[in-house]
Amino acid sequence: MHPFFEILSGFLHLLYPVLCVGCERENTIGNSCFCLRCKLNLEPAGHLSSRENEFTQRFWGRLPVDAGASMYVFHRKNPIQKALHHLKYKNKPDIGIRLGREFGTLLARSEFFQPLDAVVPIPLHPLKEKQRGYNQSAMFGQGIAESMQIPLLQSALLRGTYTETQTQKKRMDRFNNVASVFYIAKPQLIRHKHILLVDDVLTTGATMEAAGIYLQDAGAASLRMATIALALTQNY
Ligand SMILES: [Zn+2]
Repeated sequence: MHPFFEILSGFLHLLYPVLCVGCERENTIGNSCFCLRCKLNLEPAGHLSSRENEFTQRFWGRLPVDAGASMYVFHRKNPIQKALHHLKYKNKPDIGIRLGREFGTLLARSEFFQPLDAVVPIPLHPLKEKQRGYNQSAMFGQGIAESMQIPLLQSALLRGTYTETQTQKKRMDRFNNVASVFYIAKPQLIRHKHILLVDDVLTTGATMEAAGIYLQDAGAASLRMATIALALTQNY
């Protein structure tokens, strides 16, 4: 963010306090989306200090990933669980945008996340998106795209029925239910581009892996990933 806007947003923050995305009661502190009390209960994932981290390790031997990071480690009854719950089920798309903006400023400063040309969210099934009114991963992606000043591509990778090519089908056989739901609608937007793939939560990594393979097959120059939270699979 330009220093002028940073000062302006700090000033507006004083005039119009913003509510914490965790408890929705207290005001946020500094540039964080959380209040002090919630912040003390959060576990930052700390993935931006190293390229080899718990996030990228989940893809070892499965898919080459240039960098990967979550904002927080997911815990039950934790402010991050509440934020994700409100984002997904309580019609609060702005939570995703705010978290994305916050993380985007950190990603912009990380050498592991350069260069980037575009943000691609994991798509929701069209019917599910219609039901919810928005795609929570795209909201997170929108915030990141805004603060990194790169485009958000919502029409390149899609979900739904599509006649796949035989090669893709073969590569995707091992995923069964997960992978066959994606397809690349606009390969020209992906080819030779440095892509940041985003989702709300990383669990087993199967979804991001499947989407990542489609992006790489479409000729992405590099593939990086980001999520709001990283969950231990037995906890989520
Ligand atoms: Zn709070």
